[in-house]
Amino acid sequence: MTNVTVWNENRHEQIHEEVKRIYPDGMHNVIGGHLKKQGFTVRTATFDEPEHGLTDEVLDNTDVLTWWGHMLHKHVDDAIVDRVQRRVLAGMGLLVLHSGHESKVFQRMMGTTCDLKWREADEKERLWVVKPGHPITKGIGPYIEIAGEEMYGEPFDVPEPDDLIFISWFEGGEVFRSGCTYRRGRGKIFYFRPGHETYPTYYNPEVLQVITNGVHWLTPDEGATIPKERHHTVPLEPIKPRSQS
Ligand code: ZN
Repeated sequence: MTNVTVWNENRHEQIHEEVKRIYPDGMHNVIGGHLKKQGFTVRTATFDEPEHGLTDEVLDNTDVLTWWGHMLHKHVDDAIVDRVQRRVLAGMGLLVLHSGHESKVFQRMMGTTCDLKWREADEKERLWVVKPGHPITKGIGPYIEIAGEEMYGEPFDVPEPDDLIFISWFEGGEVFRSGCTYRRGRGKIFYFRPGHETYPTYYNPEVLQVITNGVHWLTPDEGATIPKERHHTVPLEPIKPRSQS
């Protein structure tokens, strides 16, 4: 059973009427509620909780962490960023959503600015599947269409993804690498673009399907995680002393 922690900054939902209307209980509860229905063990964590809700105990019991942040990126405690990074390197999966592209956590894992172009002009987005057969695209047709979204455009300052899963086209003409996967240490990372807070994107069944698929794919493979205890090790064969000359 995969343990998922759904992290949300949860600030727009408290201070912006428009966002509160769409996500009255916060988008973490919409995403988390959906994942629960898929059979995952889900907990949520938010910025305002002590240690942003990401204590050692929580992270040690998390197989996949999802991350949505925007307004408070700079205020996320560096000690928590260190902790998330250590867990990813040890095998925890990380699903970074939408404006999480500029979070300290994603920047740390990528090693680049993760900068991009953007525009809020209520335009259509079409996400083309460019890696058919990849587990993250299971149940998705040739593309996903979203009636209205914020635009993100290239160049997206990230390292070359291991797998490029989606490319978005926007009504205004830009394109964007909307689904990118990476491996860092033992952990897997999936960046998935849609989810601007003023749109009901996290109620879209296809977007939720991709999130579900993403969590499955990000779940650490059996034996892949680094055990907490690591020891000095003795050789299996006797090692002959080297002759001195
Ligand atoms: Zn946005």
